[in-house]
Amino acid sequence: MRQNFLPFSKPSLGDNEINAMAEVIRSGWITTGRQAADFEKEFAGYCRAASAVALTSATAGMHLLLVALGIGPGDEVITPSMTWVSTVNLICLCGAKPVFCDVDRHTLMTSAAHIAPLITERTKLIVPVHFAGAALDLDPIRTLAADHGIALAEDAAHAVGTEYKGERIGCRGTAIFSFHPVKNMTCGEGGMIVSDAVDFTEKIRRLKFHGLGVDAYDRATQGRTPQAEVIEPGYKYNLTDIAAALGRVQLGRLNDFISRRTMLAEHYSEQLEDIEEIIPLNLPEYNQHTSRHLFIIRLDIEKAGMDRDQFMAGLKEKNIGTGLHFRAVHQQKYYRNLPRAGADLPETEWNSARICSLPLFPAMTEDDVDDVISAIKEVLAR
Ligand SMILES: *Cc1c(COP(=O)(O)O)cnc(C)c1O
Repeated sequence: MRQNFLPFSKPSLGDNEINAMAEVIRSGWITTGRQAADFEKEFAGYCRAASAVALTSATAGMHLLLVALGIGPGDEVITPSMTWVSTVNLICLCGAKPVFCDVDRHTLMTSAAHIAPLITERTKLIVPVHFAGAALDLDPIRTLAADHGIALAEDAAHAVGTEYKGERIGCRGTAIFSFHPVKNMTCGEGGMIVSDAVDFTEKIRRLKFHGLGVDAYDRATQGRTPQAEVIEPGYKYNLTDIAAALGRVQLGRLNDFISRRTMLAEHYSEQLEDIEEIIPLNLPEYNQHTSRHLFIIRLDIEKAGMDRDQFMAGLKEKNIGTGLHFRAVHQQKYYRNLPRAGADLPETEWNSARICSLPLFPAMTEDDVDDVISAIKEVLAR
């Protein structure tokens, strides 16, 4: 058994990150300024997006997006229940109704076919989720949203560096990225909205800082002009320069991170082939390229003779950390007790009871993967 604990995720942070942050601190300007502006420009460049706004989290981005679209009581937002809770919480907090769509059993992603039957005249927004690093089949969803005049915002928290039909996620439409420490790149906590609708991004830019009308960083005044005034009441979700400096270094390393993740994921896939209690995820059949954000497996609980929570606890005893992405939102305490809108969710529920994310991060080695495989075999042999 492994001597030391292998976490399920760990950010790769080195001297370049430390130096970049130290330089910002020494400069005396630590809140939003030139670093944040450069991070936005570089991130938009990476995605080939027209515009980007840096924020304190993807959750903050989702909040501003809902506010910017004017979503409130009487409105419906279609999103999978197989997602992180933040999206659904915010829909509720805005007074709107989440309408849950199911997902494909083996990619965990929703599709136009899952979404279409749920559209009503109250539907204002669709928030599908790129899952585990793979891309949604966007074209049919884009067509569906456009045909009904409904807004579409991609939850791209797992999809920094993901490609769909040869294009990076974020280059068209509106997408929200996360830089939480478990994601493919981090800035401690942070998020980014990218969009090809520049007026929309400008509205987000205003809302993220009190609703003030001017946001251009001005070297002379070290910030906005003191005369800036409130155009509409806004929030305070601006990313600091300390965090942005970290994000810029991570963005420069992102493609290396993804290559490392890809090698490790392929090693996992080979080693897992002959473990019949483990059901891997499938990559979608359409043209896409995964950023290998998460390595998710499903436990065949009948064959294994144990449930997923017992399996995770068994791995923990063997010094292997795991994650759970995600527990279906509609089955969590608050949402269980609400009248539920949307479809039956058999695939979501089937997966919610069986999924488990294995350790995957760039600094892992092939030997670490082998340790995970040995631990899985030992847990299943009990
Ligand atoms: C991490 C995550 C979020 C939220 O990101 P934060 O930056 O932590 O707010 C949203 N959706 C999905 C699918 C995520 O994995």
